[in-house]
Order: sequence, then C-alpha cells, then structure tokens
Amino acid sequence: MKRVIIDTDTAGDDTIAILTALHYFKVEGVTVAGGNVDFEQEVENALYTIQVANPDYYVPVYKGYERPIMAVGEEKHVTIEDIHGKYGMGDSYFEKTEQRPEKEHAIDFIIETVKANPGEISLLAIAPLTNIAMAIKKDPTIVKDIPHLYIMGGLNHSLGNITAAAEYNFYIDPEAARIVMHSGTPITMVGWDMCKKYSVMKEEDQKEIELLGTAGSEFYMDVNRAVIRYDKKIHKLAGITHPDTLLVAIAADESIMTGSNMYYVDIEIHGELTRGYDLVDVSNFTGKTPNVRVCEEVDREKFKASLLEVLKVI
Ligand code: CA
Repeated sequence: MKRVIIDTDTAGDDTIAILTALHYFKVEGVTVAGGNVDFEQEVENALYTIQVANPDYYVPVYKGYERPIMAVGEEKHVTIEDIHGKYGMGDSYFEKTEQRPEKEHAIDFIIETVKANPGEISLLAIAPLTNIAMAIKKDPTIVKDIPHLYIMGGLNHSLGNITAAAEYNFYIDPEAARIVMHSGTPITMVGWDMCKKYSVMKEEDQKEIELLGTAGSEFYMDVNRAVIRYDKKIHKLAGITHPDTLLVAIAADESIMTGSNMYYVDIEIHGELTRGYDLVDVSNFTGKTPNVRVCEEVDREKFKASLLEVLKVI
C-alpha cells in the first residue's frame, strides 16, 4: 500500500477525503493547516474522522500553522462556516475523541517522515498550502525525497469559489501556494473547476449513498448537510461538491483522471482584484518550463464508484 501524509483544514469534504485516504493508502499522519473553520475545531474534526474510519493502526494528528504565512500577529483569515456549518461538520456536533493531537509540530513531522523514507511518502494537500510551503522552506532537501505532491487548489481558467478570480485554498495563502509551485516537487493539481464539473453528488447519488446504510454513509450525510444548502444557493449546484475527495481518489487511482497536461502555473500574490488567482499558462505565453500537471478531465462514474467503495465498508 502506498504511503502518504495528508494535510487538511478539516471540515466538510476534508472528512470524506480523509476516509478515502485511510481506505486506499497507509496514512503516516494527518497534518492540520488553518483554513475552513476555527483551527482547534479542524483538529478535533480530523481526530473524529479517524475515529469514524477506525483504521487498524494508529494515525497521528499534528497541528501545523494556524494562519497564512503573511498574516500579521493575530490577524485572521477568512473562514467559511457558512459553507460547512458551525463546527465545520454540517452543523453536527461530535464529542471529543480520546485520541489527542501530537506535541510535535506538523512541519517537523513532515520533514522527518519524508527524510526517513526517501521517495516513499507522497503528500496529499487539501488545505491552504501553509504547512507544505513552510516544511519546504525549513528543509528544502525534502523536495527530492517527495515522490509526488497532489494538490486540491486553484482553477484552470474558471470562476473562483471565494472571489471571482480565486479558489479558496490558494486565496487564503497565495505566498505558500507560490512557494510550493516553484519548489521543483512533481505536482498534480486538481482545481475547483474539475470539482464543480465532475465531483458533484446529486440527489439521486445521495440516495444511493444513504441506502448503503453504513456508519460511513450516515457520517457522510451528517457532515454534508450544510454544504448541500450552500452549493445550491451560491454555486447553483444541486448536490454535494467533493474537491478534496476527488483529489485523494485521483492520487489513489490515476485512471480516474482521464485528461491532464503539464503547464506552467504561477500564483498572483499582488493583484488588486485577483490575489490568489493561479495562472495556468495553457498557451505558454511566458515561455517558461511547465511545472505542474493540471487535471483537465475526470471519469465521474469511476470517482463515484471509488467514493461508494469507501463509504460501504465503514
Ligand atoms: Ca480542505
């Protein structure tokens, strides 16, 4: 089984992505970055999700950076409780788990684990890229030891989900995204445009999931209750979007990604209107060497089958 570290801002779809990672990979650890909701709540949500999955080995949870790289002092970034519900779990409240987060900092865990297992540990990034960028800054030699970095983030010439120009993860910490994109690590990026087009579980899909009648399917419906309302109102989508889960599913089975191309990708950090926008240089106007494999097409049915497979056995 391939080994991974998953970096998450656990709320909503992050939970299902973690379940998916625990199903298809040996998860060395879960690292938490500031993003979706209150940081401590994200940590609790990650711990709870692991308890739901109940893997037959211990999966440690590490706290990383609570705020974006350039945040000053106590400055807060934009959290999105309106999307994921008060606790980030579809307005459901879950009791605290017995397992507590580890004492070690997330980036030290990432560095040590990657260095101790060169070429073995892929990274699954489903949050603002603060932790990954800081780990690379602290020890740039990890880059050659990371076989692949899968990123949910950005857009390929499409409408953003937090501003018109930007996708949430890149918008929250554009400097981090820029550091990571230029790090030299092999990267696959699955953008919000792909998620919107291919990852939506519509009402009939949700019924199919409910009919599984497992603890996994019950958890799925609980955490997604708030997202259903939001996706309908804001994105005009009748269903649940799965950006993070799609990313993990593709990492587990690349045949789910039926189209992709290498492009030069860079992140706007200064834009007056476009901070966090990611330039995907499809026509290679910049003349720069492509640095990111960008997902351009997904086999939706295969993705859905992978999701059902995960929820069926929990
Ligand atoms: Ca996330």
